[in-house]
Amino acid sequence: MTSLAPDAIVGSFNNLLPVNITFAVGALDKLTDIVEQEQAQSIVVVSDAVISNLPEVQSALSTIMNARRSVQIIHVPAGEPTIDSVDHIGAQLREIKPDLVVAIGGGSVLDSAKGGRLLLANPGSIRTYSWPGTPAPIVAGTTRLVTVPTTAGTGSEVTGGVVMTDPDNGMKVAAPSPVNRANYCLVDPRLTVSLPHGPTLWGGLDALGQAIGSVVCAANTPVGDALGLEAIRLAVAALPAVLADPTDVDARASMSCAALLAGLAMNVSEAGTEHSLAHALGTVMKLPHGLTVGAMLLESMEHDRQYVPARFERVADAMGAPQDGSSDGSRALRAVEAFLAQVNCPTFVDLNVTSEQLPELAGLARAGWIPVEPGPWTDDDILDAFTRALARSSRSAS
Ligand SMILES: [Zn+2]
Repeated sequence: MTSLAPDAIVGSFNNLLPVNITFAVGALDKLTDIVEQEQAQSIVVVSDAVISNLPEVQSALSTIMNARRSVQIIHVPAGEPTIDSVDHIGAQLREIKPDLVVAIGGGSVLDSAKGGRLLLANPGSIRTYSWPGTPAPIVAGTTRLVTVPTTAGTGSEVTGGVVMTDPDNGMKVAAPSPVNRANYCLVDPRLTVSLPHGPTLWGGLDALGQAIGSVVCAANTPVGDALGLEAIRLAVAALPAVLADPTDVDARASMSCAALLAGLAMNVSEAGTEHSLAHALGTVMKLPHGLTVGAMLLESMEHDRQYVPARFERVADAMGAPQDGSSDGSRALRAVEAFLAQVNCPTFVDLNVTSEQLPELAGLARAGWIPVEPGPWTDDDILDAFTRALARSSRSAS
């Protein structure tokens, strides 16, 4: 008989974290070493037109080209990836047959590159390997992958997820597998300094949502908890700081690290109900992913905290929320409410969501539900969450 409290007992778990991560201002310069180490002759850079023209990126690529390596650039279309856009990148990669893929960009670019690289070793369309439905098994290929994030949010640089939109119905689909993960990840906070206010905010909200979701969801592990709680601690200080001064490299670095840790936490655990609700909002309103996570975060927490209040107390502690005598997880809710007000996270009113859209949102959330909730969510609970979000006409700390 143990003397430990129930939440101090560790059950069995399995986690895999194989990515070689370099985190540094100037980390991109290490790309040359990786090319040498891998003896890569044919390199494809997957990026977008803006990012591939950043002076830091141009400098890194010219160093590689000067070493007489073949470097071809594939530009990913603007917006979040679709099944068709990933298939198109896969077709180009199948043509070129590179031995190294270097993905430089935000979450959409990184997911596009991971999806395209998957298709080098797996025949047909990415749809074959996508969830929901019964995806075919994904086999590992030999093409190595380097990810270089230029935003701080999705954590895609270290995750095995490839999230896309299905053009047939507008729904989110995903082809997750550990074999999708990068072999190397270069986190260079310099590359996020020119990121505009909107994507900076949305990425930060995504990171916070992923970190909290990973700690409170049913798939949590002690490894994920450690990563997620540190991600929360860093994000709540760093996001307001980068929004106030986008050129603050220390704050950018701290936010990049928060996003990296949140991505790792989500990878060893899972994203939670905030993502199930957010995906539906993104589908109906065609909004950036991170913004939808921020918009739904309080509503998922309000419902989930009744099942795992001790986990929400840890979230509150990580946020630096002072003890107030409560122990039901509501302290975390109030801390997140104040944080969302501080960073001006848009409300449903700002996003022009109407009451007529609530049943559609609830139905889509149920259809794409990620089954890791810490306790039951009925159809009415899901509708109630969207109804509460609509009633929240302004952000204020309670
Ligand atoms: Zn996310």
